[in-house]
Amino acid sequence: MSEGKEKNDIKNVITTGPPVAGLVSPSRENLIEPKTKEKEEKFGYDRCTHCGYCRHVCRVYNTSWSETDYAGGRNRIIKALDRKDIKFDKEEIIPSVFRCMLCGNCKTVCPVGIDTLEVFQNFRKAVVKRGAIPARLKGMRDSILKNNNPYLENHSDRFNWCESSEFGKQAYERTKRELDLIDEKFSSEDLKKGKRNSDSVGYFIGCTSSYRNRELVNATSDVLGKLGIEFYVFPEERCCGSVLFRTGLEDEAIELIKHNYKMIRESGVSEVVFSCSGCFSTFTLEYSKFAGGNLGFDIFHLTQFVLKKVKEKNLKIRYTKRTKENPLLITYHDPCHLGRYCGVFEEPRELINMIEGVKLYEMKHNRDMSWCCGAGGGVKALYGDIAGEVGRDRIAETRTCMIRIREDRLKEAVETNAEVLVSSCVFCKNNLFQVANEDNSPLKVMDISQLLNDCEFYQ
Ligand code: SF4
Ligand code: SF4
Repeated sequence: MSEGKEKNDIKNVITTGPPVAGLVSPSRENLIEPKTKEKEEKFGYDRCTHCGYCRHVCRVYNTSWSETDYAGGRNRIIKALDRKDIKFDKEEIIPSVFRCMLCGNCKTVCPVGIDTLEVFQNFRKAVVKRGAIPARLKGMRDSILKNNNPYLENHSDRFNWCESSEFGKQAYERTKRELDLIDEKFSSEDLKKGKRNSDSVGYFIGCTSSYRNRELVNATSDVLGKLGIEFYVFPEERCCGSVLFRTGLEDEAIELIKHNYKMIRESGVSEVVFSCSGCFSTFTLEYSKFAGGNLGFDIFHLTQFVLKKVKEKNLKIRYTKRTKENPLLITYHDPCHLGRYCGVFEEPRELINMIEGVKLYEMKHNRDMSWCCGAGGGVKALYGDIAGEVGRDRIAETRTCMIRIREDRLKEAVETNAEVLVSSCVFCKNNLFQVANEDNSPLKVMDISQLLNDCEFYQ
């Protein structure tokens, strides 16, 4: 690379590299399985051959056409920073780092086996440590540390939702009663040793559902109640830390992990259910690592838990608003955090297919090749609703890009001729619901908890 002005330019690094190939569009059928996957070895960005295979699946690249946006391009930037070929310019580096939803589709198709999610999260961590942190992210971090949620809401209002769900209210009161008992009669150690039933179930709710989507918590509580589950909640629940992990603020998340983990262990529950895929993936990946691979309790996404209970109790499911002859036509959107992050692809489909009065149609991009809804990796929080507040072109462009991504996903769902798009993550539901609303789309968007709550379970 020549000395001088160009040396400091990210775009220059991208355009002076060897030409990218990537002429074959990856699909599940023609994925090249890297040998490394068999050995479960992970490779870093330095192994990137810039083959360009991942460009085809990157929704950001396919909206912006910017070479700095796909995984191979970002790997080139990381290499250039490592070699000091480019100067670390905070303002310039921020979009290159954060214009990625951490959807993981590039990881699925990378023939070399690069763990792009780990690479990009580490990249974020490194640049945030060097002070490149978007202002909005700082605000979110401060709110989480002060209020235990990213929405500037009072912690004491976290459980206001349960006023509108009979089963939720019962769960909250049951938990409070037992917590009083802990003080009076036995210690939390006793609970862990089995004073609480060995099959007791906890429900970890998450910030977004608690403060922004109470209808989802109510629906989940009612579904658990209908299944006859006397579940517990965690009155001292705090943010799971997902947004901090995804945006490079891992160090700040450790205290949250410690608190939530201790709280669940001391509650004595043996199973924890999650309706938010973001919380679920954070427990599956980060909390498990923190606990040395064994949490000491089992975790389930709502779809897995309901399926398990329906099978155990030998139940049938009927959607009460339609019939077998006139079913509700639905399509299922795989949340990245449930699907690619945790490998939960089939349980939601198995559950949906068990429902009489519902018929499932697949979108072209499904399961491990599913398109992201456009809300992941902190981009919705960082760029989603702030067009009026931002001056810099690149940031405004990012917002346009993210809107296009969710519009494309909705378009694909409409093409299935389904009436309803069902997801199993509060972020996907919100993002896709917003675009359906703005576009006056005929397609309704709902969470799977809401679909299940319109069902009856019977023998
Ligand atoms: S990340 Fe993998 S798929 Fe993407 S350019 Fe590099 S080697 Fe190719
Ligand atoms: S994680 Fe998703 S958005 Fe980010 S580079 Fe990979 S494919 Fe693109």
